[in-house]
Amino acid sequence: MKKTIRLGISACLLGSKVRFDGGHKWDRFITDTLGRYVEYRPVCPEVECGLGVPREPLRLAGDPGSPRLMTVHTAQEHTKRMARWVRKRVVELAKEDLWAFIFKARSPSCGVKRIKVFNEEGARTKNGVGIFARAFMEHFPLCPVEDEDRLHDPAIRENFIERIFVCKRWREILAQKMSRDNLADFHNRHELLILAHSVKHSGMMKKLVARAPKNPVKELYAQYQSLLLEALRLKVTPNKNVGILQHIVGCLKKQLSPDERKKLLEVINSYRQGDLPLIVPITLLNHYVHRYDLPYLREQYYLYPHPIELQFKNHV
Ligand code: SF4
Repeated sequence: MKKTIRLGISACLLGSKVRFDGGHKWDRFITDTLGRYVEYRPVCPEVECGLGVPREPLRLAGDPGSPRLMTVHTAQEHTKRMARWVRKRVVELAKEDLWAFIFKARSPSCGVKRIKVFNEEGARTKNGVGIFARAFMEHFPLCPVEDEDRLHDPAIRENFIERIFVCKRWREILAQKMSRDNLADFHNRHELLILAHSVKHSGMMKKLVARAPKNPVKELYAQYQSLLLEALRLKVTPNKNVGILQHIVGCLKKQLSPDERKKLLEVINSYRQGDLPLIVPITLLNHYVHRYDLPYLREQYYLYPHPIELQFKNHV
């Protein structure tokens, strides 16, 4: 497979010895499995902003909404140094056309969530977000982010991979001239995928697209994007998938023979019980969708977990 999926990554996860103690946090899933299909652009905020290796460890302090970056033992502040570097680095990263970013968990610079923030007395107060991770997310709201800890959970990993591809296609739509037809086409092809995340969001997005002629197109895109990102953040569960699979069987009811329908429902039931991975009913449905040539279903991204090499939807 051609390596065109470009991901930013915290450099220590690739095995670079950039941590405060001269070590790394090499993650074999990231290099050996995911790394076969993607190109990485490593970033180490603490080294790149000039703190060197080895260095005193850092932590976040003060207001969790806008924390300071402090050394743990000598209480030296590096917030401004990091902020200056971040301002330049996000401009460079914008040119890289990153599809997503994998951050190191629990880092005061790279952590995307639940990063400890300490008060003046050195007591832990609330959780915050790493300084670079926060700036990255603010600068690239359409770039999915995750940390390596969470990627070890197959369901979270699938959701991340799915978001990468949906957000990439959405960015491609944004790069074209805004039009109601383009938006309707994007929505139609993602309808079942969005439905698998949230019935409520899918309904709101459908209504929005249907009302399109009444709204200024720019506003329409902004509202659609906000609903899309919200929907993608909601988890897809086996029950939600079963609902979608049964819906697809319903769409095929005129074409399927009683035996074919029975077989499909058995396979869906085995998936529901955890005996088969989702890819099995999806592959079978795909077969019938192509055999009976149903254009609406043939175009649904839900039926094309992509790329297949990532073994998307392939666990029970
Ligand atoms: S967590 Fe981030 S800042 Fe720390 S060593 Fe890894 S890449 Fe560098």
